[in-house]
Parts: sequence; C-alpha cells; structure tokens
Amino acid sequence: MPSPVRFAILLGALLLARALPADVTGCACDPFDAAALKRFECSLCAVAEQQPKDAPYFFLKDNNPVKANRWLILPRKHYPGGYSIDGLSDAEWTAFWNAAIRKGRELWGDGWGLAYNGMRQRRQCHGHVHIGRLLNGVERENYIVVRDASRIPRPGTAGMWVHPAGNRLHVHMGEGITETVLLR
Ligand SMILES: [Zn+2]
Ligand SMILES: [Zn+2]
Repeated sequence: MPSPVRFAILLGALLLARALPADVTGCACDPFDAAALKRFECSLCAVAEQQPKDAPYFFLKDNNPVKANRWLILPRKHYPGGYSIDGLSDAEWTAFWNAAIRKGRELWGDGWGLAYNGMRQRRQCHGHVHIGRLLNGVERENYIVVRDASRIPRPGTAGMWVHPAGNRLHVHMGEGITETVLLR
C-alpha cells in the first residue's frame, strides 16, 4: 500500500478514536489476549503488562507533548469491572496514594495535585492517577478533609482530585474530568 494511503487510514483511525464517546465502564482489555491489548483504550493495560509482575504500581511520564509536566501512577494489576482503581485492597490503596503523594511532593513541593478522571469521561481503561502541579484558583467548596492516604474514599465511577491543605488532604469527589486542575 502506498504510504500516503496508509497514513490516511491511520489518521482516520486516530480521528475515530478521538470522536468515540469516552466511557471505559464496559472495557474488555484482556491481559492474556495480545490482540485485544492493541486496542486504543487498552494501551495503558499493555504498558502495565510490561512492568515487573511483583510491582504494586508504577509511574509513567505522560507521553502527550502538551502535558510535559505530567506524570501518571498506575496499579500494576488489572481489576475487573471496567478497570477502576476501586479494586485495590485497603493496603494496596494506601500504598498507591502514598506513592502518588511522595512523587507529587518530589516534583512540586507543597504545590502538588493528584487527579483521577471519571470512568465515563476518560479514554484509557486502565485506572491511572495524574500527578502534577495544582493550578492557582481551582479550589472549590465541595471537598472533604482527610488525615492521610488511607482515608481517601474510593471514587466509584466518578472522578476525584486530591491536594494538600496544611497537614491534611482535600479530596474533591464526584467529578468527571479532573486533570484540568493540574498544570499541563
Ligand atoms: Zn488494565
Ligand atoms: Zn480543595
């Protein structure tokens, strides 16, 4: 096939992927099925499969060039029911958020923020939390205050974001796309 044609097909596929409604509640990325893992919405599942089996979580630099300041943290395991992060056990949950907080602090001092996009608003099945610098002026009134990572509630299918407030954490629950509170 001449390469301009192939390019047009590739571009078409990319545009289609962009145009599809972003809802990952019905994901079917099977880590034992290499062909299924090639699907766009399974890309992060495929990356998870490349990590050491015993790693509880891993970090990725966001590969989107317009989000140069962003990192992601992802659980290594895939959980059933649409690949939420809700499937983490209590111990895994606490370790996951503590690792995210440590990374945020390392990158941005007290200016860090963590954002998890809702499952009906994101395009990647595998649960992932964005780590970045919290933008100024994004604070809203609907938050809960928790003492530490173990107290962060599970989001269900909704999005949530977390940032420090003195020696406590603010958790903003029940949102959709949340990564917009972070510097790109
Ligand atoms: Zn996955
Ligand atoms: Zn807040």
